[in-house]
Amino acid sequence: MSSKSVSREADDILLATDMVRLGARLQVLQAETSLSYDRLARLYREVKGASPPKGMLPFSVDWFMTWLPNIHSSLFYNIYRYLDAFTPAKKSHALVEAYRLYLEQSAAGLQPGEPAGEPVLSFTQAWMLVRFFESGLVQLSCCQQCHGQFVAHAHDPETGFVCAICKPPPRAGKTRSRRKTSARASV
Ligand SMILES: [Zn+2]
Repeated sequence: MSSKSVSREADDILLATDMVRLGARLQVLQAETSLSYDRLARLYREVKGASPPKGMLPFSVDWFMTWLPNIHSSLFYNIYRYLDAFTPAKKSHALVEAYRLYLEQSAAGLQPGEPAGEPVLSFTQAWMLVRFFESGLVQLSCCQQCHGQFVAHAHDPETGFVCAICKPPPRAGKTRSRRKTSARASV
């Protein structure tokens, strides 16, 4: 074995360990590293103290379009895009770093009225989102009001696009709607 393949393996083990700690499913580890299924399953058990969950990954673009997941996904993807473009962390390393930063940010609370410390996006979902961007199923659309970039279906018209923060659905943000309903009691 050459020293290059040894360092690749060591790098993959570190990467896979980071990903398992952040909650990655085994399918993600298989896609992002060159380690064998058996090696990854063993590593997973070592890190988590439990066997990896079986079954298919949830596969739905639509989930990323619903109100709160859309806000969290957009935050995550903007961090990921920045790290991948402007720092030495690329691809799967950018994914790990971006997800760590996303966890910190969601722990601090994304916006007033939202309970702090509740990440909505799992690591596996973050990984799937990056894949959806790579395969052209989703795009970033610019909000006409706040000019933030938000996850949207690919080829959705950007004209008149207003994001989930500027125009939340009526039931979103209990704190805010509670304040409003106390003013307008019958709503
Ligand atoms: Zn907006």
